[in-house]
Amino acid sequence: MRLLIIFLLITLKMGELQAPLYENFWIVWNIGQGQWVTHVTSDACFHYDAGGEPGSFKRIRAKLVINCGRKRNELFLSHWDMDHFLHIPNLAKTVPRLCWKFKPTYGVTKASAKKILQLNLKNCSATPVAPLWLPSISRTTNESSAVFFSDRVLLPGDSPTTQEKFWAHNRSELLATKVLILGHHGSRSSTGTDLLNQLPNLIVAVASSRWVKYRHPHPQTLMRLYEKEIPVLRTEDWGNIILRTQF
Ligand SMILES: [Zn+2]
Repeated sequence: MRLLIIFLLITLKMGELQAPLYENFWIVWNIGQGQWVTHVTSDACFHYDAGGEPGSFKRIRAKLVINCGRKRNELFLSHWDMDHFLHIPNLAKTVPRLCWKFKPTYGVTKASAKKILQLNLKNCSATPVAPLWLPSISRTTNESSAVFFSDRVLLPGDSPTTQEKFWAHNRSELLATKVLILGHHGSRSSTGTDLLNQLPNLIVAVASSRWVKYRHPHPQTLMRLYEKEIPVLRTEDWGNIILRTQF
């Protein structure tokens, strides 16, 4: 019996050792209309927003635990709108060592934002990562969206075309973009032609949205992408979407 237990322990240990040593992929979570995108690496998960519709967290919980449950977890928030931060308390409860990598200031006084701040998440200790762009002046929370770019994935939050004109202009780093998470869930007021003209190597766009309820992605946005021959994947059709950018 003792030998059997030792054998099982060794086998389980070997199973752990045989787990992939190198991981690098992205998950666009199917949380209804909203945004929660996770860059999964071997030792850390980087979450770009953790929002979505009420009740959608239970659909992704098990996969979140498998991919991020034993890693360092860092959070970037684009802006203080509920569809981008609703599930931060669930995320904090589910994964270890969640810390702020980027926390915006515009709109932080909203009552709903205060509840998130009361979680008292620490700032991540590693070197801070600046967004690709952060507006100095905003009239709305959408306009205040921080834009992130990492590993050839562009995440504009809900940044509208009026802001795209500023942040997409003359940005040589955007030439490398392969994946675009559609701004404002594919609303017609984002993903303008000026932005698309700056992304000549774009391969695919992803809409984290719900047509049935919100009519996103908007047909005008889809037409602009169609004219550039960019296919659009929708979480509403495909569920959680896994993307690999190392090809
Ligand atoms: Zn939004």
